[in-house]
Amino acid sequence: KTAGGGRWTWFDPIMDRLADDDARLTADLRQAITRDELFLVYQPIVELPHGRLAGVEALVRWRHPEHGLVSPAVFIPLAERNGQIVEIGRWVLEQAVAQTARWERDLGPNAPAKVSVNVSARQLGQPGFPAEVAALLSAAGVDPARLTVEVTETAVLGTGVALEVLRALAAQGLSIALDDFGTGQSSLSLLVDCPVDWLKVDKSFVDGVTSDSPQAVIVDSLIGITEGLRMQAVAEGVETAEQAERLYRAGYRFAQGFHFARPLAESDIELLIAAQQVQLT
Ligand code: C2E
Ligand code: MG
Ligand code: MG
Ligand code: MG
Repeated sequence: KTAGGGRWTWFDPIMDRLADDDARLTADLRQAITRDELFLVYQPIVELPHGRLAGVEALVRWRHPEHGLVSPAVFIPLAERNGQIVEIGRWVLEQAVAQTARWERDLGPNAPAKVSVNVSARQLGQPGFPAEVAALLSAAGVDPARLTVEVTETAVLGTGVALEVLRALAAQGLSIALDDFGTGQSSLSLLVDCPVDWLKVDKSFVDGVTSDSPQAVIVDSLIGITEGLRMQAVAEGVETAEQAERLYRAGYRFAQGFHFARPLAESDIELLIAAQQVQLT
């Protein structure tokens, strides 16, 4: 915007276009909720080795009227930058809690034991967030123990209040999952301070698990840490039977990934819930 030291100026055509896309997407995103363009898909989290359903993770999708499906990898970071994540995150929570209530009502003991929702730093930092979650759960009649809040290391380290908020949520009976573990500003003191129930080991480590790699060493070592600290380790992004087997031998009892199932639309996840089991080929 100013010439001083910047390597680009406002008039750089490429930057101009990117900024323009951002502005346009921001405007579109503002209407996405009211126009019913957002929806949730659910990815199974399974028990190893048999693939029994342990829970599901809710993941948001945006069906843009012109661009088609826009990845959350694109619009969530944008929404985090412009603050829209607070409204989107609230919508996601409401939908996931309502769905959990419907499953509990319709499926009884077959309902997913755990439903995970991703929560951003800015959402955690909203004053009264734990009370808002408590009110949502009690209005829907959902047991807090069914809901898992997934946060990243960066979200927890980024804001001073986040730890307090997580403790409040845990005290209310919710489970806490540390997402994408190992990719943020990893600090082991987080595992000491934070009431973590689930440690979700990032795909980038799982990718290397079948080779003689530093990633494999880390995947193996994290089992000792999680067992010692009474957390459950979940392997993210498992894509092959070979990885699943290797993870099981390393001590992993929970996993998530395309090898088991992709994120599924409501009707498809319900078929899987009815079977209580992913079909392994
Ligand atoms: P995440 O929470 O770590 O979710 C897992 C992501 O990995 C999902 O991508 C999922 O589709 C993908 N994935 C799962 N298994 C595999 C696999 O075997 N291989 C590969 N290549 N990918 C796999 P998705 O749905 O595109 O979401 C991306 C990220 O966007 C999420 O990462 C999460 O950080 C964020 N996100 C999604 N929904 C929400 C939401 O409702 N709220 C917030 N704050 N963030 C969300
Ligand atoms: Mg997640
Ligand atoms: Mg993750
Ligand atoms: Mg991840």
